[in-house]
Amino acid sequence: SEAQRQRSKDLYTLLDDANQYYQLQLKGSPAAIEYLKGRELSGEISKRFNIGYSLSGWDHLLNHFKGSYAEQQLVDSGLVIKKDDGKIYDRYRDRIMFPIRNRKGQVIGFGGRVLGDDLPKYINSPETTVFHKGRELYGLYEARINTQKLDRIIVVEGYMDVIALAQFGVSYAVATLGTATTEEHIKQLFRAVPEIIFCFDGDRAGKEAAWRALENAMPVMQDGKEIKFLFLPDGEDPDTQIRKIGKDAFEENYQQADSLTAYFVENLHSRFNITSDEGKTRFLKEAAKLLTKMPDTLIKDQLVQRLSDMTNVDKKVLFQREISSNNSPKD
Ligand code: ATP
Ligand code: MN
Ligand code: MN
Ligand code: MN
Repeated sequence: SEAQRQRSKDLYTLLDDANQYYQLQLKGSPAAIEYLKGRELSGEISKRFNIGYSLSGWDHLLNHFKGSYAEQQLVDSGLVIKKDDGKIYDRYRDRIMFPIRNRKGQVIGFGGRVLGDDLPKYINSPETTVFHKGRELYGLYEARINTQKLDRIIVVEGYMDVIALAQFGVSYAVATLGTATTEEHIKQLFRAVPEIIFCFDGDRAGKEAAWRALENAMPVMQDGKEIKFLFLPDGEDPDTQIRKIGKDAFEENYQQADSLTAYFVENLHSRFNITSDEGKTRFLKEAAKLLTKMPDTLIKDQLVQRLSDMTNVDKKVLFQREISSNNSPKD
């Protein structure tokens, strides 16, 4: 409705004002500036990503915005929290602020990082009428405007990964916002580019995130679109890795990345012992479960071929298996 549209418009204005406000606070906060220096961020890249800072204290933003916006608007924006008992206070306190933009460049939310080791390390905006985590990708707007020819996108876990890569000239990185990569994310990326490289942290959580990304990519794969998985050494994330090896080596490593089919079979192979008939059956069952989600494509044919080669089970039989498990009501 018109009233709703007006409210969203005000929300965008509010969030944009907050973005300006946090950036201004950063200028007067030596500890926050020191922190960013310690992370080796250049002033130029901090500006490009509009990095800011929220003061410590419970009501700096609240007081600053009280005259310009209604209390309910501040709550609706996610920047202010109101408890059932009526207590109202700033969500972000003493944190480095990363504004999150939508595809038009409008600020829709923030991520905030502590300067030290306190937990939670990051706080993200809650779901609001303009911010939907499963849909948004941090850095996509910046990637579009700072990359001459955007023909691939690298998906990473964190804000600092996107920013460090950009500082080193890898301007085409985006991050999911503390959630798994969704089908919606992948669809959106495929509308922008034909190639997606997933590069998560070299730890257990990163490996799990990669597999989740594969699962959610299966239903939206198309011929002519490509997905790759780049695995980092243990303990590294894209931020630490590019600082260690530099842009050229980082990009050269894409050649060692796994294709979707390679990662699919390698991962399953590592989980099942296919030297026994029983293991082989479980392996194929698991493979079929994933394959049924995939539309008919050449990529799927290649996968089926690989599975057939690995197990010495005829392709036609594999397909029948898949179809039968597809049609069975429950599996
Ligand atoms: P840094 O380099 O600043 O320590 P990071 O990005 O390497 O941060 P990770 O612990 O690897 O941090 O987490 C990856 C991403 O997951 C973060 O950038 C953030 O988006 C999200 N995240 C981490 N912890 C939380 C949390 N407690 N709540 C919400 N999101 C989080
Ligand atoms: Mn991690
Ligand atoms: Mn990191
Ligand atoms: Mn990390």
